[in-house]
Amino acid sequence: MADALRIEAVGKTFRNGAVALQDVFLAADAGTFLVLLGPSGSGKTTLLRLVAGIEKVTTGRIVIGENVVAEGSRHLLPERRNLAMVFQDYALWPHLCAAENVAFALRRTGLSAKACREHALEMLDRVGLKGLAVRFPSELSGGEQQRVALARALVGNAGLVLCDEPLSNLDADLRERMRVQISELVRDSGSTAVYITHDQQEAFALADKVGVLEKGRLVQLGSPEEVYSHPASPFVARFTGVATELAVRVGRRAAAGGGVEVELFEPTATRPVSAEAGSALEPGRGALLARPSAVRLCSPYGTEAHVSGKVVDVAFRGRGYELTVELPSGSRVSGVVSAERAARGGRVGLALAKAGCVVYATDEREVEAEPSGVEAETSDPLQEPAALRQVALTGDR
Ligand code: ADP
Ligand code: MG
Repeated sequence: MADALRIEAVGKTFRNGAVALQDVFLAADAGTFLVLLGPSGSGKTTLLRLVAGIEKVTTGRIVIGENVVAEGSRHLLPERRNLAMVFQDYALWPHLCAAENVAFALRRTGLSAKACREHALEMLDRVGLKGLAVRFPSELSGGEQQRVALARALVGNAGLVLCDEPLSNLDADLRERMRVQISELVRDSGSTAVYITHDQQEAFALADKVGVLEKGRLVQLGSPEEVYSHPASPFVARFTGVATELAVRVGRRAAAGGGVEVELFEPTATRPVSAEAGSALEPGRGALLARPSAVRLCSPYGTEAHVSGKVVDVAFRGRGYELTVELPSGSRVSGVVSAERAARGGRVGLALAKAGCVVYATDEREVEAEPSGVEAETSDPLQEPAALRQVALTGDR
């Protein structure tokens, strides 16, 4: 399938010297959803504005369909790029009613005013706003305004639809309904979508492909399943919902992507944990990042548990409970699912599944930055942390 969009070695430095993007490569297949995920300031909006033609690239090139739309001094104007945008703040014309806002997108098509209006009404009907066509934006709720904006983006059958955090101003329940609607309508239209968000759940729910941006660089690109199961760095893991990080000892060298057995620096640890090496590992200290789905509650006394700890929080989640368990070192494991309400302060065992546990080499700077005290006892990664073991065991009873 042809790429609907290709971004090659694109960089953007603003006139004040701010480097917003560096060396970004991306491609989106026609008719698919590419979701760009990243924290605030990571360059998401800048990238979308470069694709739209609202900003000029500093380096690299952008190809939409067969057309090179940006490269060097070449810069095709936004209206020549066959794309439509949906913004976080809707960006509707306040002096035009809903139907006129949608019809406005067809003004250059050569259709008669009557035909434009008919198409606009049809599109408003499809987004569920049939009766509200004559209302002005100020007479519509946030969700309704965003549906007008969506109708406006889809009515012209643009090949490429760019969405900049379209749901972030909406309430949680409406956000989920709108997400489903956007997905359905854009996919039905056959358009390719580039959708940006800082919300990992939204990204995973929508995407055919997820790109993760960190400080202006694309640090991972893959299917939601790939990014979820094999995050390329601790940053990606943390940003896509890993809440648990535990210090471990790596016994043997391991290649990135391979299996590795590690020991937890916890006095209650009973056996090694199998995990995936997220980066190339040398013997020594590492960081184990575990997704909630990898952690299972079990008896602290049987052979199943890798480690045991104390329940410090019990959150009722409707389908069950989510526990936060504190290990003797003070590290916490959160999002542990339990069918029953557990007692705060109770002792529980945790079993860690290999799928969802990734080990990274510990960044030396992070080790140095760690407070002295408990960590100082274990500064030799290959030495048994015996002192720590005793302190914690007595303190835990
Ligand atoms: P995001 O959408 O991921 O929050 P942005 O693309 O808006 O991030 O911003 C990326 C970086 O570029 C930020 O550091 C931001 O301050 C900077 N930036 C964005 N627009 C401009 C601009 N017009 N002039 C200077 N710096 C900018
Ligand atoms: Mg932004």
